[in-house]
Amino acid sequence: MPTYQYQCSACEHAFEAFQSFSDEPLTSCPECKGEVKKVYSAVGVVFKGSGFYKTDSAPKPATPSKSE
Ligand SMILES: [Zn+2]
Repeated sequence: MPTYQYQCSACEHAFEAFQSFSDEPLTSCPECKGEVKKVYSAVGVVFKGSGFYKTDSAPKPATPSKSE
């Protein structure tokens, strides 16, 4: 059973919902009945793009061969 993460756009209440693929996505916040949006995030990665997203994309300096 996949777990979906939702966040309310009105009160920013975040919650998880266990739903099957055939279930209708939730649309209302359980707290304030506001509009919720589905949050797509990989397991273990919560804060994207807030300083934790560091990759190895930095170019490596060209190291001269020392095999002489
Ligand atoms: Zn809400």
